[in-house]
Amino acid sequence: MQALAHFVREIGGVPYTDDPLSVRKKSRDQSFVSPILRRELAGRVADIVVSPRDKAELFAVIEAAVRHRLPLTVRGGGTANYGQSVPLQGGILIDMLSFAGVLSIEEGAVRALAGTRMLDIDMHTRRQGMELRVHPSTTATATIAGFVAGGQGGMGSCTWGMLRERGNIIALEVVSIEDEPRTIELRGSEIQLVQHAYGTNGIITEVEMPLAAAWPWRETIVAFTDFPQTIRFGVQLAKEVGIVKKLISLIEWRIPKLMEPLAPLVPSGHSAANLLIASASREAVQELAADFGGTIVSDCREGEGPYGRPLYEFAFGHGQLHIQKSEPRYTCLQGALRGDDLVAAFARVHRHFGPSMPFKLEIVRGEGEVAGTGSPFFLYQDEAHMARLAATMESEGMHVANTHTTGVREVGIKRLGERDEAFRRIMDPHDLLNPGKRSAAPETAEPAAVQH
Ligand SMILES: Cc1cc2nc3c(=O)[nH]c(=O)nc-3n(C[C@H](O)[C@H](O)[C@H](O)COP(=O)(O)OP(=O)(O)OC[C@H]3O[C@@H](n4cnc5c(N)ncnc54)[C@H](O)[C@@H]3O)c2cc1C
Repeated sequence: MQALAHFVREIGGVPYTDDPLSVRKKSRDQSFVSPILRRELAGRVADIVVSPRDKAELFAVIEAAVRHRLPLTVRGGGTANYGQSVPLQGGILIDMLSFAGVLSIEEGAVRALAGTRMLDIDMHTRRQGMELRVHPSTTATATIAGFVAGGQGGMGSCTWGMLRERGNIIALEVVSIEDEPRTIELRGSEIQLVQHAYGTNGIITEVEMPLAAAWPWRETIVAFTDFPQTIRFGVQLAKEVGIVKKLISLIEWRIPKLMEPLAPLVPSGHSAANLLIASASREAVQELAADFGGTIVSDCREGEGPYGRPLYEFAFGHGQLHIQKSEPRYTCLQGALRGDDLVAAFARVHRHFGPSMPFKLEIVRGEGEVAGTGSPFFLYQDEAHMARLAATMESEGMHVANTHTTGVREVGIKRLGERDEAFRRIMDPHDLLNPGKRSAAPETAEPAAVQH
């Protein structure tokens, strides 16, 4: 506690709070969606929250924390759902929301401070007819650095691939945790050292991202009488290079009824493809849907649907939120499938799961291939049951990430090699960053072919 008092004195005018309620609130992320993490993360709180507004203030925080060997956990919007931004060992929580602003928009690229919310970035870039290529379904509250350090992909990934694809991040400015912090600029493949590393190897201060054309988007829901046909349609849509699209989210019958706002739109017993497509591609999508026997049950401009929110807020991580509103015990895993015949690959997995475990699958691109990422939804029983389901999915060729754990390595999405470890030792020699998220176990697993 003495160290904390010294820390507070030494950071000078940097805004901070040690009010227990505020600190508890900021020490949480969205991992309550997991029944296991809900239990494991209960009571994990920081000692103090600091809110640096610029680099000088951030450096003052780092220097004082290093001097007193206090743990540091960085937080953006706090929307991570695997406990990434929960401080496991107390200490200082750095709230980056005041460290925000768009720095430049030039030649199809945007550079922004770490704590800038993605929706704010898009508001700026859309004035020039551009937008971020890829964003998560939490884009309204999540920050750009939080997405880089904790996220994987989302809207746009059916065209541009997951965040980690070469070219999807142009540059990162990162600060080391040393007596005298250093700022380094990562470009090219070096970016992967920090992408999805949960803020365990440096604090990101600036992010530079490539932009894409900001089309007028349409939200289209296509209903199908069976799920395999929904997948066939989704895969074909992903392959149609002339159709401009941002989301292909496929939900098996039962799920539309579990997502209350969508329930009136999708006929009973039908599966659905929830799409974001450019207005200019509307007729092409109508034709494709008809070719596959689908019925368009809803079609409107982005954000104007009868379900009261953007359609992408029913996809990716948001799907689980809606389903849990209907039945809180529903949970899921995170599987990835790829291959020449995704429909057949999926059918092999699917036959193990009855109608009480409906699938949600997002169609994305991974390393040039069309891929599916998703999971069956099932009623949580216990960890052993969940492990059996994961083993079943894996036995049929699905890569499964354990999103009910908080360790970068244990989740099994990011491969950590010797290069990563060396980088981490340089950037955080005193092991202060987000402690507990990075075990030193040797690398064994292969990386996920596609991240979700
Ligand atoms: C309902 C729901 C839907 C979701 N949908 C998606 C989705 O579509 N796609 C997806 O990829 N993810 C999704 N997520 C996960 C999460 O919302 C995203 O990854 C989001 O981009 C995280 O941003 P954030 O600012 O909230 O980060 P936080 O939760 O604050 O932090 C995430 C991680 O990044 C680290 N971090 C934050 N800022 C910095 C920094 N400046 N420097 C270094 N490390 C930092 C934190 O320590 C933490 O480890 C979803 C989560 C929920 C709850």
